[in-house]
Amino acid sequence: MRTYRVDLISDTVTKPSAAMRKAMAEAEVGDEQKFEDPTVNRLQERVCELLGKEAALYLPSGTMCNQIALAVHCRAGDAVFMDQTAHPLTAEGGGPAANARAMVVPIAGEGGVFTAEQLAAALPDGSRYRPVARLVSLEQTSNLGGGRIWPLATLDGVCRLARARGLALHLDGARLFNAVVGGGVPAREYAARVDSIWIDFSKGLGAPVGACLAGSAAFIAEAWRWKQRLGGSMRQAGIIAAGALYALEHNVERLADDHRRAARLAAQVADLPGLHAHPVETNIVLIDVERPAALWAERLAAHDVRVGAIGPNRLRAVTHLDVDDAAIEQAVAAFRTTAETLAAEPAAGTR
Ligand SMILES: *Cc1c(COP(=O)(O)O)cnc(C)c1O
Repeated sequence: MRTYRVDLISDTVTKPSAAMRKAMAEAEVGDEQKFEDPTVNRLQERVCELLGKEAALYLPSGTMCNQIALAVHCRAGDAVFMDQTAHPLTAEGGGPAANARAMVVPIAGEGGVFTAEQLAAALPDGSRYRPVARLVSLEQTSNLGGGRIWPLATLDGVCRLARARGLALHLDGARLFNAVVGGGVPAREYAARVDSIWIDFSKGLGAPVGACLAGSAAFIAEAWRWKQRLGGSMRQAGIIAAGALYALEHNVERLADDHRRAARLAAQVADLPGLHAHPVETNIVLIDVERPAALWAERLAAHDVRVGAIGPNRLRAVTHLDVDDAAIEQAVAAFRTTAETLAAEPAAGTR
């Protein structure tokens, strides 16, 4: 397996630090599905406090949080509205159809963010010809939207309309704390607006495993049945939950460093030929390139810098705990060399 000096492929690549590993090794544990793991219990209580929700459920992954939430909210055939780039639609193996048996209605937002007007246009008229409109799912921050933060006013507009039309609201908070640190709105402000919400510990927070879904006591009781059904019930999960608790204590405020570094990378490559960096709000940098993204990724890799080619002409670079200032400078240098080399090379088929 190849490793890279500068790995910007995702904020999932972080390795637990020595201090986090120590906390994990020393965790008190028990059988979590019998409610006997004190560390898992503590984590769930902490998430309830942070989000101001009645109950929370520790799960192996954020994907399982989305899958379970959709399954609890929806009946077969119900419509779930989300941005066309949202994770359940693009990266969960068709899960909404397979598990919740729901119909996803994609909305063509801007940077993963859509408006109340766009939602209004997508909502069915209530006739028997149309699906039952059940749920709106929001992603804060938007991953494929380049770490975009939903502005509170836009979010409020969508939430008001959903409420007025009797729909439930779900928030995919894989990077909720990036929005909190980047936008200055507390996590519980977002949580107060939705029925279900979850946070991921294995993204920017730097823990190895797990996510936590929160909602009302009744919602989480139903979520428990799905956790059991999908095989997400664990045993001595305090070992991994301890990493999550450590992350909540030590790795939230420092997300500001990731945001500063992402902004620096975007600013430093902005004037290079053959590329266009999108505005940066948090820890994700989208860069559109004139030449094929795969070619760029290959050239950057030769400089020990890994980025993702997420479209034919789009690169994604994500900053995280294991990317320091020197790594950003190395990435900038690699971008500069690659831009200059590619500018001097005729594209295939031009001669
Ligand atoms: C990563 C991600 C998920 C899934 O979380 P996992 O813990 O990787 O299963 C869901 N939604 C968004 C927006 C993500 O970025």
